[in-house]
Amino acid sequence: MPNEMQAQTLSCPNCGYNLSPGIKICPACNSHLLITTISQLSSFKKTTAAEAARQITKQCDTIREGDPDYAQAMLARGIAYLQLKNYTLATKSFERAIDKLPESAEAHYYYALSLIGGRRPMTLDSSKIERIEEFLNTALQLDDSKAHYHLLSYIIKKDYYEEKGLMVRGLSAGETLGNGNARGRDPEEIKQLLDQLILRDDKLIAAVRGEE
Ligand SMILES: [Zn+2]
Repeated sequence: MPNEMQAQTLSCPNCGYNLSPGIKICPACNSHLLITTISQLSSFKKTTAAEAARQITKQCDTIREGDPDYAQAMLARGIAYLQLKNYTLATKSFERAIDKLPESAEAHYYYALSLIGGRRPMTLDSSKIERIEEFLNTALQLDDSKAHYHLLSYIIKKDYYEEKGLMVRGLSAGETLGNGNARGRDPEEIKQLLDQLILRDDKLIAAVRGEE
């Protein structure tokens, strides 16, 4: 195990500085490597979001369970695996993060997103949808200011419940879209949201983007 760690080359996705294992903030440029949102991956300068994600998964793997920032590292690792579309490792990372960060809206939202597994919501079974909604609702209870949280809920109502002719529980799809529209969209988060699942309805996609 220690030999594997030594064999890894870790570099800062922002400036390319060679990082030692366990480092959380780049000593050269002060970039925070323990990212809390997926949109931060596109802000690193030195590399693509995918390569930044690969560097962050490696760096997070060097942060041990006893470290006070372990849960933040699991959140960052989950987000990086989500970017890389490795949904199995993303969900495992988020489960560990949520266990220790029950108040993190981001951890709950990204976990819900990772459970979709890159699929079309209407193809998921009802138990999976219930789990996605459970964690998404917790994210919304913790922080209802993020448009993309509301818009993922809107997508589930449209592409699961309405598409299958099932009754929508709680707020209607229209009310949920209204809640999303009332908050400022982060364009990068919306792009990432649409990149992490499959939708076939152009009108639905346009509504999520705020184009209609
Ligand atoms: Zn740096």
